[in-house]
Amino acid sequence: MARDTSPQCKQCRREGEKLFLKGERCLTDKCGIERRNYPPGDHGRGRSRQSEYRVQLREKQKARRYYGVLEKQFRNYYARASRQPGVTGDNLLRMLETRFDNVLVRLGFAVSRRQSRQLIRHGHWTVNGRRVDIPSYQVRPDDVIMLKAGSKGDQTIRDATELVSVVPAWLQADHDGLTAKVLRAPERDEIAAPVQEQLIVELYSK
Ligand code: SF4
Repeated sequence: MARDTSPQCKQCRREGEKLFLKGERCLTDKCGIERRNYPPGDHGRGRSRQSEYRVQLREKQKARRYYGVLEKQFRNYYARASRQPGVTGDNLLRMLETRFDNVLVRLGFAVSRRQSRQLIRHGHWTVNGRRVDIPSYQVRPDDVIMLKAGSKGDQTIRDATELVSVVPAWLQADHDGLTAKVLRAPERDEIAAPVQEQLIVELYSK
């Protein structure tokens, strides 16, 4: 399965802001943005021209990197979002936000989407009693998420819960029992992604 293995701090530096891709390290002064807040590469500290296209492109790349989605997958999400009723940008973000790997991060069961994907692929989680090992699985209202009985990921997941104090209102988490429920779909203002989705819609509408 194709996946993005490029250095994560470089991705943040390219976008010029913290995307919190590494979990606990992102909260320390070892963070790449704290140390070198300029784009990577030989010309990182040079001036760059900001065209309208460039701003839109960077916003799309930022969203893709934040959710850990590859280019082709991202285009597919956009195509599906544009076919749904309602506002395309909202639909796009809602689909990305309800990916199983992202939901585990929001619930506090993983420190990063990369860790979340690994736990899912290794079969540690069930949804409605059935094992789900697909990180892109879209959760739905009333889905019940549980750690598989006898899972070896137990301690890793408990450690991750220590870092999260607030779970979004559209989700319900039991950090002692390592179970959760999806109460409803998220509203736009409940999606904490640092993304201006309108710029992405403008980019793909050209
Ligand atoms: Fe980004 Fe985290 Fe690296 Fe900081 S430590 S640059 S937030 S991935």
